[in-house]
Amino acid sequence: MAEPRKADRSAPPPLTGVKGMNDILPGQVTRKDRLPDSALWQHFESAVRRVLAQYGYQYILTPLVEPTALFVRGLGEVTDIVEKEMYSWRDEMNGDQLTLRPEATAGIVRAMIEHNALYNGPLRLWTLGAMFRHERPQKGRYRQFHQLDVEALGYSGPDVDAEMILLARRLWKELGLVEGQHVRLELNSLGQPAERAAHRAALIGYFESNAAALDEDARRRLHTNPLRILDTKNPAMQPLVEGAPRLMDFLGTATLAHFDAVRAALDAVGLAYRVNPRLVRGMDYYNLTVFEWVTDHLGSQGTVCGGGRYDGLFEQLGGKPAPAIGFGLGIERLLLLMQELELPVPSDVPMAYAVIPEAAALPSAFALLESLRDHGVSVQMHAAGREGLGSMKSQFRRADGSGARFALVFGASELAQGMVAVKSLRDTSAEQVLRPLAGCGSWAHELRTA
Ligand code: ATP
Ligand code: MG
Repeated sequence: MAEPRKADRSAPPPLTGVKGMNDILPGQVTRKDRLPDSALWQHFESAVRRVLAQYGYQYILTPLVEPTALFVRGLGEVTDIVEKEMYSWRDEMNGDQLTLRPEATAGIVRAMIEHNALYNGPLRLWTLGAMFRHERPQKGRYRQFHQLDVEALGYSGPDVDAEMILLARRLWKELGLVEGQHVRLELNSLGQPAERAAHRAALIGYFESNAAALDEDARRRLHTNPLRILDTKNPAMQPLVEGAPRLMDFLGTATLAHFDAVRAALDAVGLAYRVNPRLVRGMDYYNLTVFEWVTDHLGSQGTVCGGGRYDGLFEQLGGKPAPAIGFGLGIERLLLLMQELELPVPSDVPMAYAVIPEAAALPSAFALLESLRDHGVSVQMHAAGREGLGSMKSQFRRADGSGARFALVFGASELAQGMVAVKSLRDTSAEQVLRPLAGCGSWAHELRTA
C-alpha cells in the first residue's frame, strides 16, 4: 500500500453515529447482522399506506420535539419513560424545557386539543416516525427507534377497539406474517380508574395482612406500586401472588360489557387471542381495553405492537374530555421478525441500467430513458465519475452491481440506425437484441415483465 499523504495524517478521524441510533441502508451496503435494509422498510411502509387507507385512517405529522411537561403530564411521573428514558434539555434561548418525543400519542392528543380538531366529530389518524428513549441498546431495543402509530379519537365504543385490532391483523397478512403462528394477540381490560383504585386498595390490604411472607422488594413496593409485586420472580412469593385479589373481580358491569363486546367482535371473525390478566401497559393513561401483539421469535424483545384505550388523556392534558384508543407498533422489531422468517420482499432495484459508452450518446439516452419511464420502466443511467464515463467493462460492472435485469447499451453504431441494444444481465446465454429509439411504448413491457 502507498504511504499515506501528509494531509491524510493530519485529517480528523471520521465521525460515527450516536450509540443506539441506526442508519437504515440500501441492501448492497447492509451487513447481514445489522438491521433490515431500506427495501424492507419501504415494503412495510407501502403495506401500511394501503391498509390504513382501507380502514379510512388519515395521515398526521407532529413535531419530534415537544414541551417536557406534555410527557410528564401525559405518561405519568412514575413510568419508566418519564423517570429515566427521556432525552430532555433546556432551550438556551428562552429557557423552555423540551423533550424528544418518546412516543407519539401525547403529541397527537396535544395537537388535537390545540386545533380543536374533534369539534366536527371523531377522527381516525396514523403517523409513522422516529421515537427516542434512553435505554440500553440491544437487539430490538434502540435509543432512536421507529413506530407506526394508529389512533382513533373521539370514539368510545368497543367496535373501534376491535376494528383497530383487525387493522393490525390485516397488516400482518399483507406482510406475509401468519397470525397465531408468527404473531399472536394478548388482551386484557384495565377497567376504569375507580375500579383500579378499589383493586389497588384491596391488594395493599391483602399484602399487609400477609406482611410476614413479603420479601424485601415487595415490602418496598407495597405502598408505591403494589401492582409490581404481582410481577415478582421470587418463587417463595408465588403462592401469595396466586391468592392475591384479581382486577377482573373489581370490574363493574359496564367495563365487563365493553370487554365482552370486543371479544365477541374478535370471535365473530375468528381471531384467536389469549386473555392475559397480567397484561398492563407502560403508560399510566390506559383504561379498559389493552392489547399486545407478541412473537416468540425475537427473544425477550417479543412485543411488536401494543396499545389500548386512553379515555382520560384529553382531559389530563387540559382538553375537553374525549374517549380514544390507539396502538404503537415497533417497526425495527417487526422488520427483524420478518427478516428472521425470511419473508419475501419486493425488489427495489431498477429494471434496467443504461450503459453510455461515449458522452455523445447522452442526448439520445436522456430522451429514451425519459420515454421508458413514461411507460413505467425504472432505469438507472450510468453517470460520469471523476474519470469520465469509464470503460465499458467498468460500466458493465456497475450494471451488474445495480441488480438490474437488463443493460441498455447506447453504442454509436446502434444509435446511427436509430436503435439501442438490450442485453440481459441475468441470462448470459440470451442474445442481445436491438430495439427502436422511437416509439419505445411497443417494447417497454419486455423490460417490465421479464
Ligand atoms: P418494552 O416493554 O419492550 O420496553 P414498551 O411497553 O416500552 O415496550 P411501548 O411504549 O408500548 O413499548 O411502544 C410500542 C412498541 O414500540 C413496543 O411494543 C415495541 O415494539 C416498540 N418499542 C418500544 N421501545 C422500543 C425501543 N427502545 N426500541 C425499539 N422498539 C421499541
Ligand atoms: Mg419500554
